Amino acid sequence: MIRPMRPVIVAGNWKMHTSPADAGELAVTIARRTDERDVVRVLCPPYVCLAAVRDALAAEPAGRDVAVGAQNLHHEVAGAYTGEVSAPMLRGLATWTIVGHSERRRDAGETDALVNEKIRRALEVGLRVILCVGEQLEDREAGRAEAVVRDQVAGSLRDLETVAPADREAVDGTEGTDGAAAWLTIAYEPVWAIGTGRTARGVDAAEMAGVIRRTLGELGFLEGGEDVPVLYGGSVTGATIDEFMAEPAIDGALVGGASLKPDEMAAIVARAGLTARARAGASPR
Ligand code: PEP
Repeated sequence: MIRPMRPVIVAGNWKMHTSPADAGELAVTIARRTDERDVVRVLCPPYVCLAAVRDALAAEPAGRDVAVGAQNLHHEVAGAYTGEVSAPMLRGLATWTIVGHSERRRDAGETDALVNEKIRRALEVGLRVILCVGEQLEDREAGRAEAVVRDQVAGSLRDLETVAPADREAVDGTEGTDGAAAWLTIAYEPVWAIGTGRTARGVDAAEMAGVIRRTLGELGFLEGGEDVPVLYGGSVTGATIDEFMAEPAIDGALVGGASLKPDEMAAIVARAGLTARARAGASPR
């Protein structure tokens, strides 16, 4: 059976860092330092920096292939939700969004059911989704990591297996792609590895990518989920990316702290580019 070739993706989550005054310049610097056509690059600045990053990247030749993503969105379209941002508000500002990040699950009590609603709102406006899943340290130590991640994937993606984005025009980089791969990327992010300087082992991340894809298959996703990119996230740097890109099941990284550092992003994307070219060379297509 010929497997679909998955893109290699490096997404940067800037979290609550940068300001509208400096975000554009940082985005351009990163775009120039990571000018790698074989890697899909996405930068996710804070909401208030989206416009600055979008405009700066559009004005920079090396920036035009860098996509802009939001870090979150609200599960309702509009209403009395002070301080929130809805999917329609992101139109024209972002083409991707992160959902279900563990910091939101932790700080805002986001559940899989809520994440499922958010994904629906994202798809209604054609946003590509990076769904974050990952176990706590005590889950891993108790041998529950697979079950936790399986439940997160199943709960977050319930009844979405046949859904296509409403606005295919707005979904970038997915020409000719059928099924969920047109809108879905999953980031396996063990919570104990996020912002701690501690990473999972490459083999463990690959095993969890297998769990994620098997779950997609059980849910009825096309291709048994084999075409959906799975990223690793958790203290990825230029020094730690190699172990993950060496795993055929892993298709790139969701990078937090290091995504604010152009040197780190340059090293991460360069390593990802090696994998992208090696896979393209090895692909039967
Ligand atoms: C993240 O924010 O998704 C993340 C993986 O953070 P860090 O790389 O800093 O661990």
